[in-house]
Amino acid sequence: MIKVTNLRKKFKDLVVLDGIDIEVKRGEVVAIIGPSGSGKSTLLRCLNLLETPDEGVIQIGEAALDAKSYSRKEAHLLRQQTAMVFQNYNLFKNKTALQNITESLIVTKKMKLAEAGKIGMELLEQVGLTAKADNYPITLSGGQQQRIGIARALAVNPHAILLDEPTSALDPELVAEVLQVIKSIAERQTTMIIVTHEMAFAREVADQVIFMADGNIVEQGTPEQLFDHTQNPRTKRFLQQIG
Ligand code: ADP
Ligand code: MG
Repeated sequence: MIKVTNLRKKFKDLVVLDGIDIEVKRGEVVAIIGPSGSGKSTLLRCLNLLETPDEGVIQIGEAALDAKSYSRKEAHLLRQQTAMVFQNYNLFKNKTALQNITESLIVTKKMKLAEAGKIGMELLEQVGLTAKADNYPITLSGGQQQRIGIARALAVNPHAILLDEPTSALDPELVAEVLQVIKSIAERQTTMIIVTHEMAFAREVADQVIFMADGNIVEQGTPEQLFDHTQNPRTKRFLQQIG
């Protein structure tokens, strides 16, 4: 359902993705861990073409695209397969919580206001924020804003959700509520790729953990394989450093 083959990306002379291969089955949660600068964000951003990959084949849901040559139509279809949750939420500041969620339904999917509103309220319920429907982002805590960000990603009913360090910008006391929401969504068989430093969360929720360093996948496996039976010295060192 997601298959990435030999994905490569350079920024000038810097190799950031050095031939990445990933397979994710439907409903699976994949956690990507690794040191800062290892290419995790670039990988996620290449999957929805926020960055342009240099080489490789990306298959997600109904879309397949060869980085070397693809049409606008193929790019459009690929972008529709995923929705991104960003570290800094990236909510529209001049829209309410509900409007943030329904925006893409109304603008992109041309849905009627009432229908979009109904879906929006259901999603607000999923993230536990129906009471905040009419609040503007500035009146919400970071944790609440990120839960809106997650609801917004779910709104377009994508094949997979890509989350790039969704709790890294949060005050420590707000991390748990967001992880809880992500976990509840994972339990609904939503396919997810999540870059995270929350190892306990990765262990609990992920089906597959991928350790990246210097643009390569150094090690991957089940949480048990990666955390309890670590093979690669580089992975071991990383896991020791982060405690
Ligand atoms: P991670 O998310 O694992 O911290 P990134 O994917 O953000 O890593 O970055 C990988 C490397 O690519 C880093 O060395 C970073 O400085 C570089 N990089 C990321 N984005 C750009 C960009 N737009 N232009 C130039 N270099 C970039
Ligand atoms: Mg990053």
